[in-house]
Amino acid sequence: MTENRTALITGASRGIGEATARHLAADGWAVVLAARSSSDIDRIAAEITDIGGKALANTCDVADYHSVSAMIKATQERFGSIDLIVNNAGVINPIARLAESNPEEWSSVVDINLKGVYNVIHAVLPGMLETGSGTVINISSGAANAPLEGWSHYCATKSAVKMLTAMVHKEYGDKGIRCVGLSPGTVATKMQVDIKASGINPVSKLDPDAHIPPEWVAKAIAWLADAGAANYLGTDFSLKSDEGRTAVGLPPV
Ligand code: NAP
Repeated sequence: MTENRTALITGASRGIGEATARHLAADGWAVVLAARSSSDIDRIAAEITDIGGKALANTCDVADYHSVSAMIKATQERFGSIDLIVNNAGVINPIARLAESNPEEWSSVVDINLKGVYNVIHAVLPGMLETGSGTVINISSGAANAPLEGWSHYCATKSAVKMLTAMVHKEYGDKGIRCVGLSPGTVATKMQVDIKASGINPVSKLDPDAHIPPEWVAKAIAWLADAGAANYLGTDFSLKSDEGRTAVGLPPV
């Protein structure tokens, strides 16, 4: 069990973020759930609290720096310090080939998937550096390394986040800050439902049975938050390999 440690999870209103909040709370972490849908995070936080966990919901748009910075301040005031950030909030819609993409919509994906991660890191680092410790887990994707038709915004932002992971490690790895990416493979969440509906690239053709449950990703995040991250700092840890799955205690690929 984890005593007196606080984790902030963005994109906690469903999918991987929700599963992670529930898993970490069951492990004894105080959890802060952040997303734009306040009714969902309020409900999940209440359910966690009802079974004896410590949880707080904080409505936040990660694309808005002021919203992020207010949330980090509120969390620090409530729990003292933040030990773990899970930068999980992310979007893939609208899926469109470059020529058909809408510049404003493309840009809004950059605001959430890339600038959202930067915003959280920028707001949380001073507090972590003050205590000389903290873990940042950035949810990555195979799309960080491979172009997929219709996903230019998503591939470009995940690739840039992979570099942010390396940058945090480069600048603060020797100051007690551990930063690691997690590439989960395909996961059974609303995002995969949206991908299937697009019908554009091979991922949209996958059988839904090919996806892993979000609870497996939550288990990997809990493992990285403890000792697991040590060998992967500054890089993406992948759940698509037998090595990764076995390390976490999940069935092989
Ligand atoms: P999901 O079910 O669609 O959940 C996305 C979450 O992000 C929701 O909680 C959503 O909440 C939140 N979010 C979106 N925009 C936000 C914003 N501006 N501010 C705050 N929160 C925001 O998707 P998921 O599959 O769990 O995805 C979670 C992460 O895993 C993403 O980074 C995704 O890229 C990554 N990933 C997923 C897969 C997969 O196969 N599912 C594979 C690789 C990587 P609100 O809409 O309420 O704000």
